[in-house]
Amino acid sequence: MGNFLKKKNNRRNFLKKTALLSTAAAFSTFIPKKIKAAKSYNWKMVTTWPKNFPGLGTCAEIFAKMVNEGSDGKMNITVFGSGEIVPAFEAMDAVSSGAIEMGHGGPYYWKGKVAAAQYLSAIPFGLTPQEQNSWFEKGGGQEIADKIYEKMGCKFFVCGNTGPQMGGWYNKEIKTIEDYQGLKMRAPGLGGEVIKAAGGTVVNIHGGELLTSIQSGAIDALEWVGPYNDLAFGIHKAAKYYYYPGWHEPAAILDCFINLKKWNSLPNNLKKIIALSAKAATQQMTNEMIAGNNMALKTLLNKHGVKVKPFPDEVLKKLAILSNKVLNKLSSSDELSKKVYKSIIKFRNDSIKRSENQKKFLETRMKYVNYEK
Ligand code: CA
Repeated sequence: MGNFLKKKNNRRNFLKKTALLSTAAAFSTFIPKKIKAAKSYNWKMVTTWPKNFPGLGTCAEIFAKMVNEGSDGKMNITVFGSGEIVPAFEAMDAVSSGAIEMGHGGPYYWKGKVAAAQYLSAIPFGLTPQEQNSWFEKGGGQEIADKIYEKMGCKFFVCGNTGPQMGGWYNKEIKTIEDYQGLKMRAPGLGGEVIKAAGGTVVNIHGGELLTSIQSGAIDALEWVGPYNDLAFGIHKAAKYYYYPGWHEPAAILDCFINLKKWNSLPNNLKKIIALSAKAATQQMTNEMIAGNNMALKTLLNKHGVKVKPFPDEVLKKLAILSNKVLNKLSSSDELSKKVYKSIIKFRNDSIKRSENQKKFLETRMKYVNYEK
């Protein structure tokens, strides 16, 4: 190789090296030496349910698991049953104060704090489960609920729906509206207010104490949810009659409430994961309740010989008249109650005509169609 070529090659190598060095320098300017790890969150969720209680407690667990897995471990939620950290009805205080990050329960448990909250659970003769989920998503419910929960220092999400409930367990037959006179019944929320108006005495007892309360005779009747949940508590062992329909709770949503300051401190991706997990857990619970109620009702009827009865039409008619009176009066007590009540009633009234389709279908299916097994 001549001197000229040698020089040329050397120059080429020099240029290559320089180019590589400057590229490396450019990269080192833009890439941080160590990629900063995203912050992890370890949160507690207190609930108003016994740990892993079918449908209700399991909904909280399903939600937590979805968030844990969906965030790839960046947000770990540990679920606690009622009484494990705080008693059932102190869950909201624990979250409002920031002592605990989040909770799971039912909006009507918090009516003593903000009266308007109880309308979010259910209103007597109100919305079906699908209509209720639709009102929260498309009928302005989420926005109103956020205003209500903001007063308790929390962010709100629907996280579960019980589906249509049963009318409750009674130790005496309900033949007329007068049978409610002096009846001592566990019945929370607005349905409880209607039973009071019918002459009953209403007590609010959480799930864990239902069976002992009716066994001891402390109460004459109770409503809880439906066959799937009621069978799990063994209520059939202590009550004679199981009535339907659940006029007081044609559906009832469960709430996920998050301390507002803690919520606001979350990055957007975790906020989105929480919102979507709450929605997915609601759907999963709705599905679980249908399948669970199908099986549990069979067990109650065939294995335990439970007497399942419809309320007489005349009783339902009078309960409906009382509901109208009670709700009109209660909802006029403050602006937020008025707002939430009016919004639900509008959605309900808009739903009536459309639901004729569903009514006719269900009637026809029951009366005329008997597919072979
Ligand atoms: Ca109930």
